[in-house]
Amino acid sequence: MTNDIKFHIRTLAEHHGFAMCAFSRPNIKAIDMHTLDTWIEAKMYGEMDYMAEHVRTFRRKNPENMLDGVTTVISLAMPYSPPKQEEASPKQGVIASYAHGDDYHEVMKKRLKALALDLDKLLGKHGQRVYVDTAPVLEHALAANGGLAWQGKHSLSLNRNYGSWFLLAEIFTTATIEPDETANQHCGTCTACIDACPTKAIVAPYIVDARLCISYLTIEFKGFIPEKLRKPMGNRIFGCDDCQLVCPWNNDVDAPITDFLNPREDALSPNLAKLLRLDEAAFRQMFRKSPVKRTGRSGLLRNVCIAMGNSGEVSFVPDLLDILRDEEPLIRGHAIWALGQLAGNSPEVAQRINDLEEKEKNKDVLVEIAGFKRKP
Ligand code: SF4
Ligand code: SF4
Repeated sequence: MTNDIKFHIRTLAEHHGFAMCAFSRPNIKAIDMHTLDTWIEAKMYGEMDYMAEHVRTFRRKNPENMLDGVTTVISLAMPYSPPKQEEASPKQGVIASYAHGDDYHEVMKKRLKALALDLDKLLGKHGQRVYVDTAPVLEHALAANGGLAWQGKHSLSLNRNYGSWFLLAEIFTTATIEPDETANQHCGTCTACIDACPTKAIVAPYIVDARLCISYLTIEFKGFIPEKLRKPMGNRIFGCDDCQLVCPWNNDVDAPITDFLNPREDALSPNLAKLLRLDEAAFRQMFRKSPVKRTGRSGLLRNVCIAMGNSGEVSFVPDLLDILRDEEPLIRGHAIWALGQLAGNSPEVAQRINDLEEKEKNKDVLVEIAGFKRKP
């Protein structure tokens, strides 16, 4: 199909909130397949076992199998507001910028479906399927194939106009549309993201070990956070923007005129003590439309305990002692660690931990208690 059609599709995409739109064939380059294999072989997916399932890996490498007769992938990007640079106080947690407003899965899926309906009218009879993040699609590789962005050494997509502050989605279609030119790489000799990562999770250019990445640890990982990673987590309680914040391509990127994720001021750096007091109903109510709900209450409060432990704020001690009564072992365990950081020498705190030990049945919490007692 002609460039006119591409112009029309780009105009429609923009109308639905996708500021960037690129066209490619459903093929993955050998280098991207190799990176995926390296990542899987080293088990860098952590507990996300589904990432290593044969059928999903096959589909990632062979996107032509996602839809019978697919000839074109339309990569789409929705920009969102870069983080504000003010430092959060030690009493506040930090949430990754894309999660300051509505859940992008819901926002983008709705907009993608509306765009797909418009494409039906424009392209006539054709098959199509829409994807936002959850399907086995190598979205960064496909976006690079269509020239929308190049993949930075932190593994995220980068664009000259929007830096890395955008989210990707795809429409696979059986309509044959002229592909765009592949993106050039513009990282050069820069290693800023690799050097800045607090947990050294970017183990090689373009390879992030999820098991070390704060984004994975605070959101996808459901268990007890390995102790050696708790301090580097600082006050990040949902996701991490650090590797993007240092990227020179993100200097001076403006917020989009309309941010369809509707970021909310109160989500920028929420008060940790308030979060620790959320019960299940209050958690659900507060994060009803937000991606933060993905952690569940226990995951978020686990992260809040770690942020408190790293804060140096002894004023958190009463709240942490209160939460030792919580029925979730994950929360009790991380509250014990935080108490060890803030008030390990306090006889009152030591007494409360001893009292807890007498009735505690959970083996992971007992490990945390032993750790608390080992502290000098
Ligand atoms: S998101 Fe944070 S922890 Fe993960 S690679 Fe980037 S800087 Fe490192
Ligand atoms: S910080 Fe440097 S190496 Fe990392 S993605 Fe940005 S330009 Fe590339």
